Amino acid sequence: MRSAQLTAARKIEIAEREPLSAGPGEAVIGVEYAGICGTDLALFTGNYPVPLPLVCGHEFTGRVKSVGPGVDARWVGRRVTAEINNTCLALGRAPCTACRRGLPGHCLNRTVTGIIQQDGAFAEECAVGGGCLHEIPETVDSLAAVLTEPLAAALQIFEMTPPQTSDVVVVLGPGRLGILIVFAAALRGLTVYAVSRSGMKRSRALDYGARETFTPEESHDAVRQRTEGLGADIVVDATGNPDGLGQALGLVRPRGTICCKTTCGLPETGLDMTRLVVNEIRVQGSRCGPFSPSLKLIESHQDRLKALITSIRLLTEAQSALESAFREDKVVLAIDR
Ligand SMILES: [Zn+2]
Ligand SMILES: [Zn+2]
Repeated sequence: MRSAQLTAARKIEIAEREPLSAGPGEAVIGVEYAGICGTDLALFTGNYPVPLPLVCGHEFTGRVKSVGPGVDARWVGRRVTAEINNTCLALGRAPCTACRRGLPGHCLNRTVTGIIQQDGAFAEECAVGGGCLHEIPETVDSLAAVLTEPLAAALQIFEMTPPQTSDVVVVLGPGRLGILIVFAAALRGLTVYAVSRSGMKRSRALDYGARETFTPEESHDAVRQRTEGLGADIVVDATGNPDGLGQALGLVRPRGTICCKTTCGLPETGLDMTRLVVNEIRVQGSRCGPFSPSLKLIESHQDRLKALITSIRLLTEAQSALESAFREDKVVLAIDR
């Protein structure tokens, strides 16, 4: 079983390992495709420090090869994607306090596939909790389904901050995650503005449902003009930069919500706390989201969503694929080729 291990900052080594065997509550998946996201890049650079070596990769599709004790054997052979938190519930263990209190995403005993203490999908095989599995509908192709996890993360914004239909949403950074947020917000009928320095990203945001787009320099005046001077109801920071939160604070209305999606691993610097307090701003982090609605959206829009994938590379090219993911938007590894 070949895997691409991160052994040091910016260093991937292709290693040959024993095939995985499924432990209690686990399923082993033969990986077909694995997407590269901003979290992978933060792990790759070392900005998000974790014990190494680690096989990254948490957005993936594949086929179940084997299951361990406690997992329904009918999963074997099915085409799946998987949630990333291997929790007490997902592994069929006695629940911890978080799992018991309805916070399985924050399970105290969890491992996180490809991120924390669990090797991920930049490999021919990976093991996940049996309860993490979601079957991919026959009508959805495996390449499109690699976007299930990031699209679910986009949908989670509106789970945590249920919008009014009249709400104005500004998305800062319509990149690999931000463009999915633009798309999901526009499908809900919200008025969406996207802010980016990149002309390519601005024009793509228009294609995916943004009403208008602005450069960061234009954004303050433009958003005020379009909201009668008040500011946007919801501002999503998907910039991937620690100063995104400060930018969002300049655009959100009093008592509006800033939704934080940046996981760059670096501390925010110089946030104007006084403005945040005086304007009574709500700051809402959000992370993993619901897979079933995400798969449904992919089913109805798979060609448009698949068009967001900018290149497909081989597992043996993982090093250069990660490097190029800093410049291009959505790189996917084709593992089984
Ligand atoms: Zn991700
Ligand atoms: Zn737990």
